[in-house]
Formats: sequence, C-alpha cells, structure tokens
Amino acid sequence: MSVRSEVGSGATSRHTGSLFAATAVHRDSDGNSLHAPVLVLNASYEPINVCAARRALVLVLKGVAMTEEENGHFLHAARVAMRVPSVIRLLEYRRIPHQSRALSRKNILLRDRNMCQYCAAVLPSSELTLDHVIPRSRGGSSTWENLVACCHACNRRKGNQFPAEAGMKLMREPRAFNLHTSRHIMRLMGRSDDKWRKYLFY
Ligand SMILES: [Zn+2]
Repeated sequence: MSVRSEVGSGATSRHTGSLFAATAVHRDSDGNSLHAPVLVLNASYEPINVCAARRALVLVLKGVAMTEEENGHFLHAARVAMRVPSVIRLLEYRRIPHQSRALSRKNILLRDRNMCQYCAAVLPSSELTLDHVIPRSRGGSSTWENLVACCHACNRRKGNQFPAEAGMKLMREPRAFNLHTSRHIMRLMGRSDDKWRKYLFY
C-alpha cells in the first residue's frame, strides 16, 4: 500500500514536472532562451568561445559537443524535451588559431569594451564610431592595430591628424583580438552565470 502510494506520488510529481517544463518551454519559445549565451569548452575543458543556445543545441544534437551544464530551461521540439545547456564541451579537440576573430566594428567595440580610447567615455555602440589612429588619408590601414573605438566628439576633434598632433593620447595600445582578450570577455559575460565560473576562473 505504501509502495503504491509512493509510486502514485512519484507519478504525480513527474506529471507536474512535465507540465512545468511545458509551461517553461512555452514561455521560453516566446522569449529569448534560445539566444541565451552558452560557454563552449574545448575537449580539454579550455574555454574557447561563447555561442547562442540554439547553436549549442545543434552541436549537441549533431554529436559534436556534449552538455556539461544546463541552464534550467527546456526546449520542446516534437515530443522531445531537451534541456538547454549553459556550458557545452566539444568531443574532439580543436586547435584554435590565436587570432581567430574577424576584424569587424562589433569586435573592435568588444575589444575596447565600448570605451572611447581617447576620453574613456563608455557609450552604447550606436554612439561610438571607429577611429583610424593613423588616418587613412595619411596611409593608415584598417587593421586591429590601427582601429579603435571612439566617441563622435573625439573623432571630430582628431580629424585627419595623428593623435599627438591633436594633443590626444590613446588609453592603450590597440592589439589584435587574441585568446586572452576573448577569455577576458568570456569572464565578463560569465559573471552572471555561476555555472561558468569554474571553467573561467582558475
Ligand atoms: Zn571620446
């Protein structure tokens, strides 16, 4: 009798659990859980990237990666409920080139943490522009080492001059986006997620 009642209560809680899962899925599919950031580890547990949950689930489904940590949400597809990962790990080790990030406005702003490299103002991306440290008109190229985040006021003030000519100084030497920079950004993102901490802070 007691066994039966335990079985009964177990079944009830499972049922309730799946109902909650379904509710969460419904809410999530309208929300942004599929865009939630997921930490990607190499097979060696070295953190190498951050991707959206949707991409992480594809990697897990394709058998390229396995889930190391879950984020507590479910994705409901057909009759299968999948737990959305928070951390995944590649099953095969991948060699990561040191400068694997594409040169783009977004990545320059990420590297400079949305801070004008002349006056240190931290601004939304829409209020920042890219400055060629050595102006293009004077032979400056569009490279990681010659592009920095810059506010519009500083950009106008600098014009077609070298920083020294305009009496301006860079906050720091612009560098290519390397693994160290990436890890720094992963740490900033991981601050809000306890499950990331043990992989990022060591
Ligand atoms: Zn500025």
